[in-house]
Amino acid sequence: MKPETMAIHAGRQPDDGSGAVAEPITLSVTYQRDPDGTYPRGYFYTTAGNPNRQSLEICAKSLEGGGESVAFASGSMAISAILRTCLRPGDHVVVPTDTFQGTLRLLVDVLAPWGVSWTATEITELDKVRSAFQDNTKLVWAESLSNPLLKIADIPSLAGLAHAHGALLCVDNTFVTPIFQRPLELGADVVVHASTKYLAGHGDVAGGIVVTRDGDGLARELRLLQRREGGVPSPFDCWLVQRGIKTLPYRMRAHGENAMAVAEFLQEYPLVETVQYPGLESHPQHRLALQNLDGFGGVISFQVRGGADLALRIASQTKLFVHATSLGQTESLIQHQASSPTHGPGTGLAENLLRLSVGLEHAADLIEDLRGAMENDLQVARTKCKDA
Ligand SMILES: *Cc1c(COP(=O)(O)O)cnc(C)c1O
Repeated sequence: MKPETMAIHAGRQPDDGSGAVAEPITLSVTYQRDPDGTYPRGYFYTTAGNPNRQSLEICAKSLEGGGESVAFASGSMAISAILRTCLRPGDHVVVPTDTFQGTLRLLVDVLAPWGVSWTATEITELDKVRSAFQDNTKLVWAESLSNPLLKIADIPSLAGLAHAHGALLCVDNTFVTPIFQRPLELGADVVVHASTKYLAGHGDVAGGIVVTRDGDGLARELRLLQRREGGVPSPFDCWLVQRGIKTLPYRMRAHGENAMAVAEFLQEYPLVETVQYPGLESHPQHRLALQNLDGFGGVISFQVRGGADLALRIASQTKLFVHATSLGQTESLIQHQASSPTHGPGTGLAENLLRLSVGLEHAADLIEDLRGAMENDLQVARTKCKDA
């Protein structure tokens, strides 16, 4: 089946009782036993198994082409589960220098006290990754596209390096989704998503999902952790994510087309210093993007000719782009990263950088919105130039 068909049909469990086509939400915590004491439908307690969660897991597994899939209550919970199953006290993990801040905070606040160490390295330079390995390295962490600079992880090469050292490769595929890249097919062992973002797609539910290449080993340990801790998404949350996935292939195409149009506009706009978007020829890894990705995603970052004050002013003057964190939803979002609680001081991010999550509005309206927010400052800059 093609992704468009899988997104709609994989895992779908129509209701035999009522004939309902849209799947019912099963809120029951407990399930009735047969006279012989068995559970003929396989469910007995909601944190151990729930029809909505099972549907979602089957759907995610199909889209990523994996052997098993395990859903969690948030992307961070899913990442934590992977770190705590792939690593033991005394183990070491290689992570990108610009890894998602939530992943870094998990290492600092949760994994380090537990006895796990890590080396942060420039994941796009394979020599540096090679020299980051230690005898106790068990895991390499990569993100299909990094946040917010949109560097591209070369998954086949990273998988080769990890496997040569007896380590696993995990890819956070949140930014591009299986519609634009299937990391397991490129050699990764585990894929994780903040389904909060593009999978659910509407900015109204948090969730995380892990897909493993094989159905045994690691998958069994993840399932065990999910059941023991019960850090699962509610049935309604699972239903919302799966409902979102039904339109994922079409939404991703639209996010990508809109982002390309916005990136091309920004690239030509005089108040803009640089634009980072993998679809632009100016992206340092554009060739790798063409090779490994089927689309470039909906996130752009750009730097303006000025400081934090100019960047913040622009973010406050857009009318369609909402100044808020997160990404991957219908509404376009703009964010000044350096002053955001998700980054903050000490992360070395440029003060004049803005990140866009390009939504599903019309590209022409989005471009006009950005032009409108920057126009005044452009005039001021031009006047200053003339006076000088
Ligand atoms: C948002 C995000 C996460 C964390 O997901 P939450 O559901 O917010 O915990 C992890 N990785 C990436 C790339 C993200 O964008």
